[in-house]
Amino acid sequence: MHTFDEVSRMMRSLNLKHGRESLNALLAQAGDQELSPLQWTGMLLGHELNEREQQRRATNRRKAGIQVEKHLDEFDYRHQTTITKRQVAQLLDFQFIDNRQNLIFIGPPGVGKTHLATGIALKALEQGCKVWFSTALALTEDLEMAEIRGRLKARIAQLCRYDLVVIDELGYLPMNRQNNHNLFQLIHALYEYRSAILTTNKDFTRWGDFFVDENVAVPIVDRLIHHAQIFMLGGDSYRLRQKMGGGSVAGVGQN
Ligand code: ADP
Ligand code: MG
Repeated sequence: MHTFDEVSRMMRSLNLKHGRESLNALLAQAGDQELSPLQWTGMLLGHELNEREQQRRATNRRKAGIQVEKHLDEFDYRHQTTITKRQVAQLLDFQFIDNRQNLIFIGPPGVGKTHLATGIALKALEQGCKVWFSTALALTEDLEMAEIRGRLKARIAQLCRYDLVVIDELGYLPMNRQNNHNLFQLIHALYEYRSAILTTNKDFTRWGDFFVDENVAVPIVDRLIHHAQIFMLGGDSYRLRQKMGGGSVAGVGQN
């Protein structure tokens, strides 16, 4: 027969952290419910696995870097009619992640690109995927910092460990040559290996405007759109609509 302390020590050796932490409560519960040895074993191991999974998801959620929570069930398809609920629902089986496809949302400001990208990313996290979300600007700074420290390759390898990389607001700001190069390295590493979601206000034909070098723009765009589902969003800015009290924003002009 083993004492409580002995059992607790054995659980520590086996790294059964959660079962060990709750051992008292679990034993009491097993006593109350008069569990059979098999049921008790199942209860203990089930508890350990459950807690580990929850912790893993919480870690994934934290590492994802999603600052503003935007859920898909808050998305109003009556306002945004250039994408349907069914089209979005079809993405939520996450076949696109299994198939290493990209999603690209193109459209003017305020039409819901970031909202959709964030909502899909949150759902992917719920499914247990590892997601990393960043604005293009923050990504550029991140890669630049890594490059300066001679750690660009290592940083890219780290980002490639995520199942899904979301790059929000690509094309809002022009990038210098080094930044173009860094981004190309990342896109190249992700290509056919991981999925990305991009949001951009620029049509591909105008991506040359913000990649200083056409020679970089072409291969980047080429890799991104190969195996991509592209959604062209239009309509009025939701922000402007809200400001105008729900009326039409015709004549206000997009910024
Ligand atoms: P974009 O990234 O296209 O510039 P956002 O996704 O940031 O636009 O949307 C701007 C704001 O309007 C956000 O607060 C977003 O939640 C909200 N929004 C945009 N479209 C919708 C929509 N169809 N239903 C609900 N909220 C929306
Ligand atoms: Mg946005």
